[in-house]
Amino acid sequence: MASENYSVQGGTAVIYLNNPPVNGMGHALREELAAHLDTAWADPNVDAIVITGAGKLFCGGADIKAFNTPASRAEPSSRTIVRRIEESAKPVIAAIHGSALGLGLEFAMGCHYRIAQRGARLGLPEVKLGLLPGGGGTQRLPRLAGVEAAVKMIVEGNPVSADEALAMGLADEVAAGELLPAALDFARRVAKGATHPVASQRQAKVPADANFFEAQRQRIAKSKRGQPAPLECLACIEAATTMPFDEGMKFERERFDVLVNGTESKAMRHLFLAERAAAKIPGIPADVAPAKIAKVAVIGAGTMGSGIAMSFASAGIPVILFEARDEALQRGLATIRRNYEGTVSKGKLKQEEAEARIARIETTLDMARMADADLVIEAVFEDMAVKRDLFAKLDALCKPGAVLATNTSRLDVNEIAAATSRPQSVIGLHYFSPANVMRLVEVVRGAATSPEVVVTSMNVVRQTGKLPVLVGVCDGFVGNRMVAQYAREAEFLLEEGATPAQVDGALQKFGLAMGRFAMADLAGLDIGWAGRKRLAPTRPQHLRYSKVADRICEMGRFGQKTGAGFYRYEAGSRTPLPDPIVNDLIIECAREAGIERRTITDEEIVERTIYALVNEGAKILEEGIAQRASDIDLIYVNGYGFPAWRGGPMFYADTVGLDKVYARVLEFERQHGEFWKPAPLLKRLAESGKTFAKPE
Ligand code: NAD
Repeated sequence: MASENYSVQGGTAVIYLNNPPVNGMGHALREELAAHLDTAWADPNVDAIVITGAGKLFCGGADIKAFNTPASRAEPSSRTIVRRIEESAKPVIAAIHGSALGLGLEFAMGCHYRIAQRGARLGLPEVKLGLLPGGGGTQRLPRLAGVEAAVKMIVEGNPVSADEALAMGLADEVAAGELLPAALDFARRVAKGATHPVASQRQAKVPADANFFEAQRQRIAKSKRGQPAPLECLACIEAATTMPFDEGMKFERERFDVLVNGTESKAMRHLFLAERAAAKIPGIPADVAPAKIAKVAVIGAGTMGSGIAMSFASAGIPVILFEARDEALQRGLATIRRNYEGTVSKGKLKQEEAEARIARIETTLDMARMADADLVIEAVFEDMAVKRDLFAKLDALCKPGAVLATNTSRLDVNEIAAATSRPQSVIGLHYFSPANVMRLVEVVRGAATSPEVVVTSMNVVRQTGKLPVLVGVCDGFVGNRMVAQYAREAEFLLEEGATPAQVDGALQKFGLAMGRFAMADLAGLDIGWAGRKRLAPTRPQHLRYSKVADRICEMGRFGQKTGAGFYRYEAGSRTPLPDPIVNDLIIECAREAGIERRTITDEEIVERTIYALVNEGAKILEEGIAQRASDIDLIYVNGYGFPAWRGGPMFYADTVGLDKVYARVLEFERQHGEFWKPAPLLKRLAESGKTFAKPE
């Protein structure tokens, strides 16, 4: 079969996996590969076969969109192709550059040999999609690299380098220079051999510790709470040590099928595809190119500013950090140093690299030094007057075309932009705390923000390894606007009969990283209190208002930093302990408000808080503040500790069934009034049997 993907070079057939962008092992690619292998096997002039990837990588894996469809298993399946390779008298060599991930690596393990170019990454990341490697990976990797290495790669899903692959027996050789000549040379050497190694015929290398699997099971059950995939991965690896290969393969297939049809994996695949969708901005022409950001200025070296400066410095982009007060600047710089040094002491960063990053952050008290920055991000006090004053100054100072960004949590970006003569250059970049760690950034498009500034901002955030999600202007944008509804319901539930520990317990059981009240204590209660006092004169008097949080603040309890908040904390500990004083205070507030306390179930706690998120999310969608439901899910999972295996609040509502969610919202409206007015979009989708994922 003549093709650009097949050639014979000095007795070795070279087959390219060619299916842009990542050479995904879709059905068409498998058919072509099988045909080329047949050609090579039939050709008496070929005595070795090299399979490599076209373009930048070997193979990125299976076609995720084809999961749960017949195309994923249509013959020739990867299993069938590998079986034939294992029977081949001619050696088959996988030549790996860029990356070999998922089914790509599983296929490579089915070849006789693997040569990997230095810089390549080899990995089985299926667990991150709530799956296990279902193409023989759980059976072949323990046989090639041993059980311990297999657990690390399969249960955690992190890739290894070419050199690590060589050391563990996953690769046979590392090519320091060009891959193809090295692979052809390797092929010439092994072609002479009478037999070639077949992974499935080997014995898995088992750990010395007889208790290994039990200990791992306990570790995983704790660290991956609520997720079935990591434990299933472990069970399959164990099967590689107790069952013959074919039985192990059958077991792997069965467990894969359970996972691939389960909600958790569907949720995680939803989020994977959601990240790709979030990068697309309908209405902005494809030819709008991002501007290059060579120099960033960050204003304010407080909690957020220092973290934001680190995120650029870590990505190799020079930063100038400007402060109004020298003392704050020095404190910020000390925080930055401490954070980098902490990473070094954990062995996650080399000392030289930490120093290079710190050196990329220049500090100044002189505003004029920001004049040539391509992007300015302000993280000063959350005060409209302060921000407007600052933006007017930036307008006078900064070069034309510079992107002027605000990290405000909830102020009106349009009002800030109006303080300048160039609102088209103004945008919100809402980072999450700690900003050097959290991936999410809400990119807030103002009414006048230009498409170039949107595209440039999304692009530079991505360059720093973060996840930008485009949102519109409203109070609190997407995340904080939704969380306000959730927090309100959590506080109402206290008055109605629950305790902070009960509410948090139910939410943690649901899968949230932290309950509402432990989270509030961690973040600090004083900022919200100040905001409520400011807004008190405008609060509608006919609406229910819980005084619990205010009364806790009045006692000087601002959360962890004062040793007490909704919980109490022992000196030096972050463990929230129930506090009888708070329980008494809740009962008193309920009595004053004329609320009769009753028994609250965990189910009600979850429904009241999570459906409050869903109903507000639906309003946000309808108003066009979020572009798509999956963007809201990304925000919640990456910014608010919502469990990935539930797919985010909107996806979760889809899995419950929008008719059921809507019925509960109506019931809550009857019981609790206008806070629960159903979003018209929720009503429409529920009544037409649609979902947020497929609203049409
Ligand atoms: P912070 O009080 O820790 O830091 C603010 C810093 O800005 C201070 O060091 C102050 O000296 C400096 N500053 C004030 N006015 C200035 C000016 N005119 N010029 C230069 N420097 C000035 O506050 P923070 O928590 O880092 O919050 C900063 C912004 O980020 C706020 O708008 C806040 O709403 C937003 N934000 C905060 C969080 C959070 O969790 N803390 C999360 C997202 C967004």
